[in-house]
Order: sequence, then structure tokens, then C-alpha cells
Amino acid sequence: MPSLSQFRSIQALGAALRSRQISATELATDALRTAHQHPDPNVFLHIDDDLTLAQAQAADQALAHDRAGPLTGIPIAHKDLFVTQGWRTTAASRMLANYVSPFDATVVSQLQQAGAVSLGKLSCDEFAMGSGNENSAFGSVQNPWDTQRIPGGSSGGSAAAVAAGLVLGATGTDTGGSVRQPAAYCGVSGIKPTYGTVSRYGIIAYASSLDQAGPLARSAQDLVPLLDAMSGFDPQDSTSLESCDGQANAQGRVQADYTAAQARFQAAGALPLQGLRIGVPREFFNEGLADDVGAAIEAALQTFESLGAVRVDISLPRTRLAIPAYYVIAPAEASSNLSRYDGVRYGHRADSYTDLADMTSRSRTEGFGDEVRRRILVGTYVLSHGYYDAYYLQAQRVRRMIADDFQRALSQDCDVIMGPVTPTTARLIGDNRQDPIADWLSDIYTLGVSLAGLPGMSIPCGFGGPGARLPIGLQIIGRYFDEGHLLALADRYQQVTDWHQHTPEYA
Ligand code: GLN
Repeated sequence: MPSLSQFRSIQALGAALRSRQISATELATDALRTAHQHPDPNVFLHIDDDLTLAQAQAADQALAHDRAGPLTGIPIAHKDLFVTQGWRTTAASRMLANYVSPFDATVVSQLQQAGAVSLGKLSCDEFAMGSGNENSAFGSVQNPWDTQRIPGGSSGGSAAAVAAGLVLGATGTDTGGSVRQPAAYCGVSGIKPTYGTVSRYGIIAYASSLDQAGPLARSAQDLVPLLDAMSGFDPQDSTSLESCDGQANAQGRVQADYTAAQARFQAAGALPLQGLRIGVPREFFNEGLADDVGAAIEAALQTFESLGAVRVDISLPRTRLAIPAYYVIAPAEASSNLSRYDGVRYGHRADSYTDLADMTSRSRTEGFGDEVRRRILVGTYVLSHGYYDAYYLQAQRVRRMIADDFQRALSQDCDVIMGPVTPTTARLIGDNRQDPIADWLSDIYTLGVSLAGLPGMSIPCGFGGPGARLPIGLQIIGRYFDEGHLLALADRYQQVTDWHQHTPEYA
């Protein structure tokens, strides 16, 4: 019987499903078996065979009646930050260890309507706070390329599952880099669209003005149908945007059409790469950048040049300030968003306590891990009377300046920006345990894009680290709503390179 491991792309698997070479149910059965037997027990936080098989049967029905779309029957899985009816939703926290949502996140139901079959819930950093997936209350996830190393975070389970071939697509969320960074460390492709493109309804909130969902998959080509299904105006999310080039569908949703956008770019003659101005920010090539990462980025830029693009030296002068601004704003919003977990309205309740205040305090102390507590403390501090102006307001001003830097570059100097996603390849699990700030510093190249609300993606562009066995990601940053362009550029690069086709040994 054909199995999931034989198919390396959503397109190829979709064709096999439509030609009845394999059924969605056979595929789901095989994928569930592989997921249960996977050597890293921490990738999935919740699998429920019956729920998955019910979705697979519905996909087979759609296939039998020629109602199949590009995602019908395709095995995917969700970061455990998206609420799901049926599967538990824990945000990788003890606080929500037994939580089952009464409804599905918009993204979850949209992917289900598109026919994708979910294998369950994937590990992440607790409440999406972290850069290594070590902050999960349920154990670290291993990087499939080297099991001693982190897969990145916070969507580490999503990146590891795609890299290991457990699924062909996964959802992630990116508040300061959490789609792009794990995609880079695990050698897969991932995109964080423009803030407001994908509904936040039903995504457990970390920092609401930054949180944005995006898909992870092997290639840019595979990201297109996933982002098509995930995006669209949602009246249930007050920051959801009606996208520029979308068309209303039967439910009145404005759906951005990345398949059409990509086709437009392709029709314009192997893409408008001739004369495409790639801005290369000099601040991204500072002393913190490892030589092997720098060399891989340089080679990728040369590939784009060989396709007709031109390189422009640009400056994003406030790059350095992204870290302090982000690590004030994100904890501030988190401290407010996480106040609902008090053991009464939501979450774990301590067994014994003396009074109401004691109950809240004990429940929160027991329910939250160290990094989440650290952020709540920082956030509460910067929002408190007397410090608000000095920290929070100041950080908001810096955020505006960072967004202006990108805006200036993308309107005057260049069409897209390219650079590294991370300063180094994936570090060893446990390395930064004594020094949480060291992890914060590794977010230097991704935070600015999030603060500005711009679209950004990561695609594999080489290998580095010990023995040159660890993946390196190229970051591509675009103008607002330019996802279609970014995906088309990435696809063009992937037509002439094969970094995205490499797989770790056991996948
Ligand atoms: N590493 C960053 C943080 O810890 C980003 C996380 C994210 O994007 N969810 O906040």
C-alpha cells in the first residue's frame, strides 16, 4: 500500500488521491501509525485516531464526488495554540493541561472545510513564548536533523513534524519569529503573512498586536494552498483585514487568492526577476552572524542575481532596538492576555488554598512555567504606574520607528528585503537554560518584521554547523500584502535549488 513517506509535495499527493492511487483513509491510517511510532514522543501533544479518520472519510467522500480541492485528504496538524473541538488544546502549559475547546479556531475550520485531514496537535513553547520549544510543560521537541538540538520555537513541533515527514503541512503562529525561526532550523519553508491576513479567532493569545498565524510546509509551492485556505476576513477578529486582491466567497469571506497571485507573477514571464531590487540590510550582517550562515545567505543572493535580480545595500538603522522594544511590548500584552488564567474562569486550580487571593496565586504559580512567569512579571512592571511612560510608551515609539525604517526601504530602495532568519544554526537542547536572555538575542532578525506587521518567510538555503548537517534559512521580507510575490520568488528559487528537498535521515 502506498504510504505518506512516498510523497514529497502536496501537489504530488493530491494527484495520487484524485487518481485513486491511494485513499484519504489509507493515507490517514498510515500517517497515524507513523506518528504513534515516531521516536520523539514529544512532537505531538494530542492524537485521536477516531477524529482523524472521520475527517479522512469526509475527504474520501469529497474525492468520490469530485468535490476535491488541492488540500482534500492532505495530512496536516495544528500547533497546540489553535483551539480545536475534540482534540485537547493546552498551549503546551500545565495551566490548560485538560482543556477542550467548545469551538474550532477559524483557521482550523477553514482548513477542515478545504478538506485537509488533521492528525492532531503539535507541541510548541508554552503560550508561544520561546525560541527553542524547550518551554513546553510536556518536554522538549528534538530537531529531526540532530536529535540533540532544538527544532526552534515557538512553533517547534510544527517545523519538526514537517521536516520528519509526519505531515505535509502544519499551522504555526509567529509573534516575533515563531514560524520563520523553527522553519529555518528544521530546513522547511514557512510564511508569516501581513498582520491581519489570517484570523486570530481561536488562537490562544500571546501578544495580540503581533500574533499572526502562518503555514509551514516543505516548499513555497506547498505553502500556497495552505495560506489560501487559512487567510481571509473574519468578522470575529477585530483586527482582521479585508485583503486587497481577495474576492468574497459564499460565506461572505474575503479570501486572498495566492494561487491566482502566483499565477499572475508567473504569467509575467518566469517572474519579474529581471531588475528585481533585493534590499540587503547591512545591520543583518553584523558580528553576531555566524560565518556559515552568512556564507549560505551570500550564495542564495548570488542565485537570485543569476536569475536577473539586483542587490541593493540598504540600512535598517533601528534593527538593534527591535529586541528591547519587542521584549517590552510582547510581555506587556501577554501579562494582560494571561490574566484570564486564574483557576476560576480558565485553567488549572490549586488543590488547597486559604482564600481567593491565595487560590489565584497558587493556581498561577503551579500552572505557569518559568518563562511565562518571567514575562508576566516584566509585562506587569512595564505597564505599572510610573513605569508606563518610561518603558511601554517608549517601546511603542521605537516600534513606529522600526516600521518606518522598513517602509522607507521598501518604498524607496528595494522591492523585497533578504537576509538571515537566525544568527546561527540550531543550538543544543539545554544550552541556554541558565541564560534566557541569550535566547531573546537570537530573535534579532525576525522581531522587526513582526513589530512592523510585514509579511516574511523562511526558505531553506544551505547547511552549516558541525559537519555542515544543520539547515540554514533565508528570510524574504515583502511589502504589506505582498505574500503572493514572496511565494512566487521563493518558488522560483526552489526551482533552481534543491535545499528544500533534503530530508533528515529518518524521515
Ligand atoms: N522568541 C520570541 C518570543 O519568545 C517569539 C515567539 C513567537 O513568535 N511566538 O517571544
